[in-house]
Amino acid sequence: MTEVVCIHPWTGLVDYRYDTLDDRGIERVLQASADAAPLWAGLTLDARAVHLRAIAAVLRRRKDEIASLMTRDMGKLKRECLGEIEKSASTCEYYAEHAIRYIGDQVIHTEAKRSLVCYQPIGTVFAIMPWNFPIWQVMRFLAPGLMSGNVAVLKHATNVPRCADVLKSVLDDAGVPAGVFGVLHIDNQQAARVIADPRVKAVSLTGSERAGRSVAAVAGQHLKKCVLELGGSDPFVVLADADLDLAVRIAISSRFGNAGQTCIAAKRFIVVPEIADAFTERFVAAASSLPIGDPELDATGLAPMARANLRQELHQQVQDSVAAGARVLIGGVPETKPTCYPATILDQVHPGTRAYQEELFGPVASILRAHDEDDAIRIANDTPFGLGASVWTNDRARGEAVARRIDAGAVFVNALVRSDARLPFGGSKTSGYGRELAEHGMREFTNIKTLYID
Ligand code: NAP
Repeated sequence: MTEVVCIHPWTGLVDYRYDTLDDRGIERVLQASADAAPLWAGLTLDARAVHLRAIAAVLRRRKDEIASLMTRDMGKLKRECLGEIEKSASTCEYYAEHAIRYIGDQVIHTEAKRSLVCYQPIGTVFAIMPWNFPIWQVMRFLAPGLMSGNVAVLKHATNVPRCADVLKSVLDDAGVPAGVFGVLHIDNQQAARVIADPRVKAVSLTGSERAGRSVAAVAGQHLKKCVLELGGSDPFVVLADADLDLAVRIAISSRFGNAGQTCIAAKRFIVVPEIADAFTERFVAAASSLPIGDPELDATGLAPMARANLRQELHQQVQDSVAAGARVLIGGVPETKPTCYPATILDQVHPGTRAYQEELFGPVASILRAHDEDDAIRIANDTPFGLGASVWTNDRARGEAVARRIDAGAVFVNALVRSDARLPFGGSKTSGYGRELAEHGMREFTNIKTLYID
């Protein structure tokens, strides 16, 4: 057991302490999960749906308490916490209603008397989750996962222990049977042993590329399927005929919401010459009106980052990019509080600089100036990542044509890139593999079984 100390991102004070589990504690959680698996799998979809609706109701009833824990764990703005909880609740209801469409039997006509595909649960799925959307990331995995008949154990990020515990308590409160959802407060070495455990059938990781490589290697060694939702450096491609008011408004919320700590935030703003200066000027003006402050207060425009070391890493990336030729248009100077970083926009970001190549996981935007539309698409694809992307143009057909040429898991035209229970979510290239949500996500952790009856 190791003691972990959690620092409040805004006050900088020690706010919570907890112990990681020892081997006996891990054993208890895994065995409870293994015991619950056949019982949960044996429930009908309607019976599971009753539980999912109850989870949604408890999330809504306890939203203020949950939001406060999120803010204390990782510094998110109160209003963003409430939005995240509501999205989690409505996603539970969505899967309660629609799971049958995604994993109901599929009859396929062959020469047999009857042939069909059925989607059967596989048992315990191990979820390793990040701190940046500490409730939504878990529920995005859990709501469809529970409806598909699987049970889950969660290793949450070290800095959001109370978010993990409150989710467990929400499920208990909703009457979900013991063992269906377990929480493991463990370190990364212990996580590797959990992946190896024969009671664990598959792994779902949302996190960095570094974590993805390591988790996929262990899962591969034990021949366990994994879904990897990793980092991104989403392009935001502004074409000559874009509605700049709309584009700037969404650019601000995409890049600076959640203190810039969003995988599918727009990070590289690729502009064609016709609108490059106009877009940049308006973007800078709008970003300059985002006051950093206490995440509990409504007036705050920009939250603190989750941890001081994350701000340090981000500032190093900015400094290295500036040393390599990038120009700071706004921000770039750390605030006194160790977690606070101002809204920052870099111009003249060229290939080879860290801001061009790497994910900047904080409130820093990069402007990349393209020669023309083809060049903009080339730059959009000139990245190791392929998570999301957006295209801004008044010509929808042209927007769709450009979207088809961008190598990413999702491309939105004239809209904020976001996850949606109705649409699959995931990445290409080093942004990971596999999908969450919709039918594609629900089926990832099922045994897709063929039945052929003659
Ligand atoms: P992280 O450091 O990779 O951590 C994510 C989770 O993985 C945490 O629970 C972490 O545990 C665990 N972890 C890290 N290394 C591990 C290892 N070797 N073995 C087992 N578990 C390991 O990422 P983060 O800083 O929390 O999150 C930011 C990253 O996640 C960004 O790159 C972001 O783009 C990405 N992300 C992607 C999505 C998506 O849907 N694609 C969504 C959100 C975030 P500890 O905290 O104990 O290290």
